[in-house]
Amino acid sequence: MSTVLVTGGSRGIGRAIVEEFGRVGHAVAFTYVQNRESAEAQVASLMENGTRAVAYQADVRDFQRAQEVVKQVQELLGPVEVLVNNAGIRRDRALLNMDPAVWQEVIETNLTGTFNYSRSIIPDLIRRGGVILNIASVSGMMGIAGQTNYSASKAGIIGFTKALSREVARLGVRVNAIVPGAIETDMTISMEESARRKLYAQIPSGRPGCAQQVARLALYLASQDATYITGQVFVIDGGLT
Ligand code: NDP
Repeated sequence: MSTVLVTGGSRGIGRAIVEEFGRVGHAVAFTYVQNRESAEAQVASLMENGTRAVAYQADVRDFQRAQEVVKQVQELLGPVEVLVNNAGIRRDRALLNMDPAVWQEVIETNLTGTFNYSRSIIPDLIRRGGVILNIASVSGMMGIAGQTNYSASKAGIIGFTKALSREVARLGVRVNAIVPGAIETDMTISMEESARRKLYAQIPSGRPGCAQQVARLALYLASQDATYITGQVFVIDGGLT
């Protein structure tokens, strides 16, 4: 089984992806920024279940650090075959009230973070073959008021996915995007109650999704069953878009 690197694997969708890949026997590495103790407890629990695991406190905005993390993961767990660019934040406000710093923070975390890890791993993936999965959002497809920064970053990730897939398909690397709708994690729980209710009311399935459903899709897209799938965008949103 191969090694998987997930950015932002300490909570929510990233954590579910780490657990799901670990469950089927992959070695897993993940990054986080905030809580070292909790990340270490997560690694200990994975290892108790027989998964080789390691976590790195590493801000995805830092390119130098991305290069270090990729190198260290490969030394410790062996060649990375799957990279999941998952780390993401939202800082919602109307454009009228959006400072440049808030714009930058979201673009640099969501979009530049995706560049940083893809750029750091791509020479190795090209040499050995592999998979990149980028976590975008329905916000990047339909646009959501109050999320110009977030929508732009996620639309950027979709364009990045399509362009990179064309560059590396013949070199044995597949690149796909997953586009979740409303998934119950800290990110949705932190929304204002009325905004969250309004969003959920628009979902044809009538309910939010769960992180494990996204993780299962990631697992499929990284698997041997999906070797003819690249440059695609997979929406998992209960019919929202
Ligand atoms: P959470 O807020 O629950 O978790 C975010 C994760 O990203 C955490 O592990 C966090 O680490 C990490 N992270 C945040 N900033 C950075 C950074 N600068 N460097 C490294 N890691 C960072 O989010 P979700 O699980 O809900 O979202 C995961 C991805 O899915 C995001 O890209 C999000 O945009 C996308 N998405 C989510 C949807 C949803 O409804 N939940 C819908 C559509 C897309 P730490 O614990 O240290 O803070």
